[in-house]
Amino acid sequence: MRIVVDYDLCESNATCMDLAPDVFEVRDDDFLYVLNETPSDDRREVMEDAVRRCPKQAIALKD
Ligand code: SF4
Repeated sequence: MRIVVDYDLCESNATCMDLAPDVFEVRDDDFLYVLNETPSDDRREVMEDAVRRCPKQAIALKD
């Protein structure tokens, strides 16, 4: 599983960080950083939740 973020869509509101702070981090510079682009498969449910809850539909999962 690979996390792909469309940074043109992302508005750095940190909804994804609230769900998985080990994977997503919005820093003081107001940009989102993906800390782990390939989370293990046991995180799939949480990652799918992040995809669903992102208000900008900026997150995609590959594989
Ligand atoms: S939830 Fe979506 S818009 Fe918000 S910081 Fe994460 S990727 Fe960006």
